[in-house]
Amino acid sequence: MRPSILVDVPFRFKDFVGNESTVTHLRRAVASGRLPHSILLSGPAGSGKYTLSLMITMALLCERQPREPHAGGDLADFCGECRHCTRIAESFDLPTLVEAAVSAREEMRETDKKDTRVLIQTHPDVLVLPPDPPQLLVKLGQVRSLIHGIYSLPGDSKRRVYLFPSAAFMKEAANSLLKVLEEPPSYAHIILMAEHPGELLPTIRSRCAAVRLGALSSPEIEQLLAARKPEVKPQQRALVARLAQGAAGRALSYDLESYLKARTDAMVLLRSATTDSEHTDLFKTTETYRAGAEGQQKTQAMLSALAGLLEDLLLLRSGVPDRMRNIDLGRELETLADSVTFAWLENAVRGLDNVISGMRRNLLRSISLDAFAENMADGRR
Ligand SMILES: [Zn+2]
Repeated sequence: MRPSILVDVPFRFKDFVGNESTVTHLRRAVASGRLPHSILLSGPAGSGKYTLSLMITMALLCERQPREPHAGGDLADFCGECRHCTRIAESFDLPTLVEAAVSAREEMRETDKKDTRVLIQTHPDVLVLPPDPPQLLVKLGQVRSLIHGIYSLPGDSKRRVYLFPSAAFMKEAANSLLKVLEEPPSYAHIILMAEHPGELLPTIRSRCAAVRLGALSSPEIEQLLAARKPEVKPQQRALVARLAQGAAGRALSYDLESYLKARTDAMVLLRSATTDSEHTDLFKTTETYRAGAEGQQKTQAMLSALAGLLEDLLLLRSGVPDRMRNIDLGRELETLADSVTFAWLENAVRGLDNVISGMRRNLLRSISLDAFAENMADGRR
């Protein structure tokens, strides 16, 4: 028996930032009973595909079916309090649920493990089918669970909803979904979510109504942070909004402190490569990068910060400073950008790729970092 804990519904339609006309369109379709039965919801990571899908599911199943008057037709809403809304809302924290399902599977006997697929179900009429680890693909067994359940009438909610948070399918899983996707029962909805719809088989795409979410603008993300994380100062909000690159989820969970630490080291590397000064600071910094899992994580964070800084330098050199991410370093990066050529920057980006692939081959990290900095510095001479 699952415990019946009532959870707070963490989101309402009014809290969903960005893509307003798309959201309005979907809510109107729910209110008028014209929501397509097979939907492909696409958009970049963090644009809110899963959150919106669950809100649409709540609007479809909500016991009270509240409506918001709106020009051009009422918009569907959900109460957030009834037994359907609260149970569906338990599915919001997908990573935790998937982790729990995966570790439950780990505990099983080998023979049972093989046939157990990850499925998330917090409401009897709503099934979430996440990509199954370790391959992170939707598998045949998962699609079979959908086919097994979708043709029996829903319980007391009058609808059945199936959600695929990532539409990366194993081929046979995709093929077995085609028929039901073509013509789901009148009470059922299937929502596939994908970052790039182009990666899906055309046979899947052609059976779904396409709905697209765009990346959020920096001001939209700042607005979201102001509402949901008021403790973050306005200046930090502006920086995080840029660093998250249009992804609301990433912005809300952004670890700015760790990023700034990694970036400080990346700047030491960059400064020593772009000036003819002694490399004392550089060696002091790279010395702290050691082998082992922790060192690897630290190195990856620093290299990714460095890649972002190089991109900013490229943007500055290309005359589009508006798009740079590290806005708090604006002046220093401008000076750096003036001191290097385009060819140097391209060489540095290539060199960084080499360091990253060297890391994959598990070379001594401090050596390849020094070599990389030396190489960048040589490029200027
Ligand atoms: Zn409700």
